[in-house]
Amino acid sequence: MSMRDPAEIEKFISNIDHALLTVSEIRSSLRHFTQLVQSENKGPSFVHAFSDRLNSVKRDLNTLSSEGENLKGALEHAQFVANENKFNWALIKSEAEKEAAEEEIRFREEEANSAKAKETGSFVKANADYAYKQLSSIVLEQKPTSISVPLFFTTCINQWMSNKKPADIDFTVTFEKEETPTLTGSTCHIKISARKALVADLELEYEKYSDTLVVHQYDIKGVKEEKHFWQDSQYLVFQKVNLLATDAFEDMLVFFAKESLHNMLDWFCSYHNLFTTPCHRCHKILQFDSPQYRYLPPMVRTWAKKLPVAQSDSSVVHPAPGTAYHMRCYIEYKNNHAI
Ligand SMILES: [Zn+2]
Repeated sequence: MSMRDPAEIEKFISNIDHALLTVSEIRSSLRHFTQLVQSENKGPSFVHAFSDRLNSVKRDLNTLSSEGENLKGALEHAQFVANENKFNWALIKSEAEKEAAEEEIRFREEEANSAKAKETGSFVKANADYAYKQLSSIVLEQKPTSISVPLFFTTCINQWMSNKKPADIDFTVTFEKEETPTLTGSTCHIKISARKALVADLELEYEKYSDTLVVHQYDIKGVKEEKHFWQDSQYLVFQKVNLLATDAFEDMLVFFAKESLHNMLDWFCSYHNLFTTPCHRCHKILQFDSPQYRYLPPMVRTWAKKLPVAQSDSSVVHPAPGTAYHMRCYIEYKNNHAI
């Protein structure tokens, strides 16, 4: 094997440097992955975060294995030179001196620029910080740099409150847990309250890549009712609204995220007259439900729905979203219109 020229050796060194950087990236990815797995608080975004972190570990390992190929030349050369014991000391010395001089210049510049640089070992620290910052941008979660990016829920709810909420209806939306950005969008926990009608707790997630809304958990109950997510409402009317919400959300969530959220707010808002408006079909307020619960108000409010293409231009007139029905009247209506 022949002697290598300095340019080639420099290439070897840069390959080694790269591989070392990748190793430290892997350590960082692994550390964050482990932290995530061990974390106590596994929120709604856990699954996404999990696969995201796992992917960055995989990606770094792949990078390392391809960089391993590049190291072969350097390692062969090192072995050859070591066997021959023919190190070019003069070259090594001059290169090392050159590098030290360059580092010294950089150190002086930094010292001039920053008071911090006066600390002992500041050069090392500055370089470590720089490397860490570079790594963070690849490996770590994006921290509040996204503060300038408007948050989905905050923006959409504000838009709905100022443009779409009927002015005469007492209806509020509050953040129980403020909106939190995730790797794939954001999550929040909101409380919706329609005076004298109902309160709804919703844990929502916005998926920015698919532009969809996900409902992780919801709970609809009476205004003065104290209960936990996992308990059923003590009132039959809210138990039924909770069941109805499963169907309603399924239809509402096929829209893009903003429309889904606005439809959802429209729907909850249409419950403001839960106990006071008559049924669209039978025009009565109370309907006999059962000997146990006796009379119930119209607890159905129709919701926005994407119609199949065949139906969208048919002559059947669907009542506007928010129309009130008794559960039984609604089922009758659905059967009659085959929807
Ligand atoms: Zn009715």
